[in-house]
Amino acid sequence: MLTKNQIIDKENKYCAHNYMPLPVVLTKGLGTKVWDINGNEYIDFMSAYSAVSMGHSNPRLLKVLNEQASCLTIVSRAFYTDKLGNFLERLCKITGMDMCIPMNTGAEAVETAIKGARRWGYRIKNIPQNKAEIIVAEGNFHGRTTTIVGFSSEKEYQKDFGPFDGGFKCIPYGDIKALENAITENTCAFLVEPIQGEAGIVMPPKGWIKQAQQLCKQKNILLILDEIQTGMGRTGKNFCFQHEIDKPDMLLLGKALGGGLLPISACLANKEVMDLFEAGSHGSTWGGNLLACAVGLEALNILEEDNLAEKSAELGNYLIEKLQAINSDLIKEVRGKGLFIALEIDPEKATAREVCERLMKKGILSKETHSTVVRFAPPLIISKAEIDYTIKQVIDVLK
Ligand code: PLP
Repeated sequence: MLTKNQIIDKENKYCAHNYMPLPVVLTKGLGTKVWDINGNEYIDFMSAYSAVSMGHSNPRLLKVLNEQASCLTIVSRAFYTDKLGNFLERLCKITGMDMCIPMNTGAEAVETAIKGARRWGYRIKNIPQNKAEIIVAEGNFHGRTTTIVGFSSEKEYQKDFGPFDGGFKCIPYGDIKALENAITENTCAFLVEPIQGEAGIVMPPKGWIKQAQQLCKQKNILLILDEIQTGMGRTGKNFCFQHEIDKPDMLLLGKALGGGLLPISACLANKEVMDLFEAGSHGSTWGGNLLACAVGLEALNILEEDNLAEKSAELGNYLIEKLQAINSDLIKEVRGKGLFIALEIDPEKATAREVCERLMKKGILSKETHSTVVRFAPPLIISKAEIDYTIKQVIDVLK
């Protein structure tokens, strides 16, 4: 059997170094816990960037996965199946949206929305060909395709990957005046995260999404909310937009929609936009496969039946209060909504990486976001006792 260091060396030899993992080798997970190769136990406060909201190896999801896997997995969209309609009906009902294009990864859902919004701009709003503009926010993270990194404000995401297409305008996050000023007759959409995850769990001013929606309606622009990370109960509502508005024009989901088992994403919109996708205009071999539909449907069942959003709200408030009560001059700020929480470290005193490495030694797995933020985003099934245990470890580490 290989040792921990041999496994790490092998991964580093054969896998591109496009991530910087903490030095732990994980082999098993169950619920909120994961175990490393030496049998050490950890509470998972990363949840695979919020993909594992229902816990690792959730038994209900595993059952559905196994049953569907032994029946029929994928035929592609060349044929109808008995699963896709059921899944999307449920997804549309729970979100309030009309229709959906099923995809696999988050970035694919975002790309789908960009295509949909541009078509809507040309065919419904009569924007001249190739002039459609989409407004985005500084600090955005919507994925890693060349189109998407092309409108990132992070130079690191773009460096030597150009040329980029254009067609995007970037405004400061949370600034309603800037949004208003950026709109032209060629603007077809405003694409934004209701809370910016990868920027470090950055919250806009209260009421901003509602104001943005009003402005978009007034100016005839689509509001596209990227809830790939904030959706599925993460922020204390089933979807983060429900804190402020009835529904956006387009909604993007991913990550936890796949129940921590499969990559499943969705681009949802009203019928007017979705009807612009005729046969041949867009697609994905794996999008909407039976396995994904069965798992996605069960993930939605669990979200509702296990009241995950309420749990996230209650335990998130509890965790935020406990973190805010810690008396340490290393902490610059604690912020978040539901179980989507940032502990911002004063860069003069320590790095978030150091804090994460020390937390790891105490059985708490998190990962730094940029150099200053430690993220607390555990599976939504976490218990109060696990949170209390974690707080003790955080206090010790900060000391
Ligand atoms: N959108 C948001 C808000 C995200 O946080 C992410 C991933 O972190 C993505 C899109 C991209 O998702 P994926 O990595 O599945 O392509």
